[in-house]
Amino acid sequence: MDARSSLNASRRRAELTRSAEETADVLVVGLGATGAGAALDAASRGLSVVAADAHDLAFGTSRWSSKLIHGGLRYLAKGEVGIAHESAVERGVLLRHTAPHLVRAHPYVLPLTGDVSRAQEAMVMAGYRLGDALRAAARTPRPLLPGPSRLDAARTRRLAPFLSPDGLRGGLLSWDGRLLDDARLVVALARTAAAHGARILTRCRVLELTGRGARARDELTGEEFEIRARVVVNATGVWAGGLDPRVRLRPSRGTHLVFAPGTLPGLTAGLHLPIPGAGNRFALLLPQPDGRAYAGLTDEPVDGPVPDVPEAPEEDIRALLAVLNAVLDVPLPREAVAGAYAGLRPLLAGEGGTADLSRRHAVLGGQRGRWGDRGDAVVTVVGGKLTTYRRMAQDAVDRAVSAAGLGAGPCRTARLPLVGATAAREASGAGNGPPARGALGAEGGPPARLVERYGAEAAAVLPLVRAYPEEVGAGVTAGELLWSALHEGALDEADLLDRRTRVGLVAADRAAALPAARAMLARAAAGDLPGA
Ligand SMILES: Cc1cc2nc3c(=O)[nH]c(=O)nc-3n(C[C@H](O)[C@H](O)[C@H](O)COP(=O)(O)OP(=O)(O)OC[C@H]3O[C@@H](n4cnc5c(N)ncnc54)[C@H](O)[C@@H]3O)c2cc1C
Repeated sequence: MDARSSLNASRRRAELTRSAEETADVLVVGLGATGAGAALDAASRGLSVVAADAHDLAFGTSRWSSKLIHGGLRYLAKGEVGIAHESAVERGVLLRHTAPHLVRAHPYVLPLTGDVSRAQEAMVMAGYRLGDALRAAARTPRPLLPGPSRLDAARTRRLAPFLSPDGLRGGLLSWDGRLLDDARLVVALARTAAAHGARILTRCRVLELTGRGARARDELTGEEFEIRARVVVNATGVWAGGLDPRVRLRPSRGTHLVFAPGTLPGLTAGLHLPIPGAGNRFALLLPQPDGRAYAGLTDEPVDGPVPDVPEAPEEDIRALLAVLNAVLDVPLPREAVAGAYAGLRPLLAGEGGTADLSRRHAVLGGQRGRWGDRGDAVVTVVGGKLTTYRRMAQDAVDRAVSAAGLGAGPCRTARLPLVGATAAREASGAGNGPPARGALGAEGGPPARLVERYGAEAAAVLPLVRAYPEEVGAGVTAGELLWSALHEGALDEADLLDRRTRVGLVAADRAAALPAARAMLARAAAGDLPGA
């Protein structure tokens, strides 16, 4: 592994000191997908970068997504051809070049129940074919994302055996991208940025933008200091208006349910489930690599102050459960819901309900001429979605470079593999299709589960897993927690259980894993490591 990508408590201390002493080209505020992507974009163009988050990597909306890497079909349906094409292109970039270890092609089935009319079936299939045309236009090879097809009822139930056979006349199968874990994408982005020299500062809140950079506070010590930078990229998502009054957002809450392994046995595809009375809106049930399944998602406008961690209200939970129960052979009781989470979409304000608001992104500020021949020194990038984070980052950094008159190379991120991306897969052009012989769990090599999760870094994680093999929950071993503290910037138990792993999505699992998390943090702090 590339040691320059390692993030940990001692590196953070060193980077904080330097950030207070030097003037950076770019200060990025916020380390969700957009900010971490902007830090990588700027650093890989040769700029000096400081990137700060008030909490942790992926603390905000980026860890609460549905984990879809959309091909853009839903935007095409609204006539937003540009965004649809952009999504399909970005999906191909992630699948084939930058993160084939984190983003996979995945099958999705729409069960044809009595709630889906024949006319709706024909319309959805026509949409899937358009989606396939988008794939082709984005030059993503068909073997990677097969075209749509119609399944009979028996095959539909093989992919989701718990579906009620009553009135089930088949299913519509389509392929799209999915993230194995959204928070881990952000961690990989931040570490890749660090490998290119970006100073990554978690627990560092920007209090105010000053025109010469920002006034910031180390949230671990309470100490305030100045970060000087030639230009600032504000990538604080749903909180962006707190630093830039030009931003007008209309946040919308999306809730997901979490089911424990075994609750929905045999689920191998994602399911699009019709929401009764909501026209062509569908809920999603998605199996997870750890055996859990997530069901989402609601879309409710939210007014008032933006909380750090949104709550999933009981009415959202019951509404989602009702959508699910409408298609199950044996309905699930409320107690079957092991956990629930909610996130706030940073939607740009506009007319109509939030489900209809555009998912386009906006880059504000950085206009030339505001300060003499230089632009204004704050560029805010907001809106959009995870799928298009790379393009958002590119647009923001382009604007920042021109605003501050920085000497920077062109954007390189469309072909820059993130830490853990396997060069062999990229070179073969196979993207994340069927792995090459020996790539997964080769004899004597790391087990397939570690390769699935860490890609090319699995061999480096393995000695820690061998030393601390006990499972702490959701299939995660104590050794992996130690890896996260040593290399992935985890500073406390919450970083380990809620963002580097997703053990914490189920409260009982989180409580059971806490002692192991504390023990591994203590080991990392003491340098008490296997082989040391
Ligand atoms: C329920 C839901 C489901 C979604 N599903 C999908 C999906 O399946 N596919 C998809 O492509 N998109 C999806 N999206 C959209 C996507 O998740 C978001 O557009 C994206 O994650 C936004 O990322 P961001 O980096 O802009 O913001 P965030 O991830 O919110 O990052 C902002 C960061 O800024 C930090 N911050 C805030 N204020 C300060 C400050 N003053 N100083 C320092 N740091 C600060 C926060 O701590 C946070 O970490 C979904 C969104 C929601 C809500």
